[in-house]
Order: sequence, then C-alpha cells, then structure tokens
Amino acid sequence: MSKPTAGIFGLTGCAGDQLVILNCEDELLDLVNLLDLRDFLMATSANDTRCSLDVAFVEGAVMSRRDEETLERIRQRSRFLVAIGACAVWGGVAAQESNGNHAALLEDVYGPLGRQYDAIPARALHELVKVDLNITGCPIEKSQILAAIANLLQGDPPLLPQYAVCAECRMRENNCLLIEKGSVCCGPLTAAGCEARCPALRIPCIGCRGPADDVNTASAWAMFEEKGYTRADVDRKLRTFAPKGGRA
Ligand code: SF4
Ligand code: SF4
Repeated sequence: MSKPTAGIFGLTGCAGDQLVILNCEDELLDLVNLLDLRDFLMATSANDTRCSLDVAFVEGAVMSRRDEETLERIRQRSRFLVAIGACAVWGGVAAQESNGNHAALLEDVYGPLGRQYDAIPARALHELVKVDLNITGCPIEKSQILAAIANLLQGDPPLLPQYAVCAECRMRENNCLLIEKGSVCCGPLTAAGCEARCPALRIPCIGCRGPADDVNTASAWAMFEEKGYTRADVDRKLRTFAPKGGRA
C-alpha cells in the first residue's frame, strides 16, 4: 500500500509547531517511513510544491495576502487539512489587534513605511478555508500530534481533550491557584492537553491553548467573581491567545 502524501507548512508565526514535529527525535524515522512527506520547507529545500496531498498540516495565522494565497493553494491540493497551533486554530497573539486600527498600528511600529507592508489583520485558518481538524497549543504537544497522525493513518478520527485544564490539574493533585491563592488562573475555561503544565509549576494558566468545549462556564465565571475578578479581567487574559475564541 502506498504511503499517504503529506505536507507541513507555516504561515505567519514563530514556527514553533513545525519545530515540535522536527523535535520528535525518537519518532521522526517512523514518521518518514509512514508518511510520504512531499513538502516541508523547514526540513528540506527539495520539495514538490504542486503535488496533491492526502494531508496538510498548517501552522501560523493568516496575516498577509501572501498567506491567504498560500493557504488557498494548500487547501486546493489537500484532501485533509489540519490546523496546528493556537495561531492557526484561534488567530493567536497577533489577532489581538484585529479589531483595532491596523494601518495606524503598522505605522506606529514601522513608521510611515508600515502602511506599504503586505500585512492584514490576523485570522485563524477556519476563517478562510475549511479545516478538517484543529490541534491547538502554543506550541502543540508532541504527544498529541503523534497520536493524531497515528489515528489518521488508521482511518480513525483523532481524539483530543474537550475538557478544561482544571481536569488535568486535579489529576496531578496540584493545589488550586485560584481557590487557595486567589490568582487569575484560566484553567477552568482553557482546553486541556498540556497536563496542566503551568499550574504544576505554581504559575497560573494564561489560556495558551484557547477555549475548551466542555466547560461549566457559569460556574467558572461565578468562581472568578467570588475571588474578586470581573469578567473583563479574565476575558482580557483569555483573549491573548484566542481573541475571537467563542467563550460563552
Ligand atoms: S490551579 Fe488553575 S488549572 Fe489548576 S485547578 Fe486551579 S484553576 Fe484549575
Ligand atoms: S497550563 Fe495553560 S498556559 Fe500553561 S501550557 Fe497549559 S494551557 Fe498553556
């Protein structure tokens, strides 16, 4: 049986998600044995940039006309498109300013030349094209991308956590930073999958994985209010990584 053809791509972002894949040192040989990796610029300059792909993994937000064209080309040549990382899934940090005056911001940062740059307000991939699977994270977790690839190879839909970081935090038996210290920890509303990495180090979660689907938002907001935080206080933090993140 021929191997599925695959491509790994980066739009505008820090390239951290592609690096996570490259850093799968123990599994990398298995990956290239199982996938026919045709287009992965970060790994090789010998790419087939036109072939059709069974699966494309795309990181980064859409922040320029060039990104728009690149994403549309990737979508046209791919059967299954996976958004990887918070920028691709939610718009990420760069999308924070998407409701502001973009032209004025470019000028503030780059001077008068800023207005000439090919830069548009940041958008997540799903705002432009159909996305078949979202794997969030800033960056993605190695275990999740490997498990998702294994599932796709078996023809099964990947199972990603729908619950919140708090569930993993409780399983690690961490003391709760929100309840015991009154810190603004975004764990109750943030998608799990990181094993509550930050609270385990006594650092409040800042919501880098974006919103969780399966959360008791009413209870979470009530808990924040009980600790003296307004919804605006928490929302401001949550919107750092998922500015259009759909939290109720
Ligand atoms: S420390 Fe944060 S993530 Fe952990 S249980 Fe408390 S609110 Fe949830
Ligand atoms: S605990 Fe929160 S901020 Fe830390 S890695 Fe997990 S989702 Fe991101």
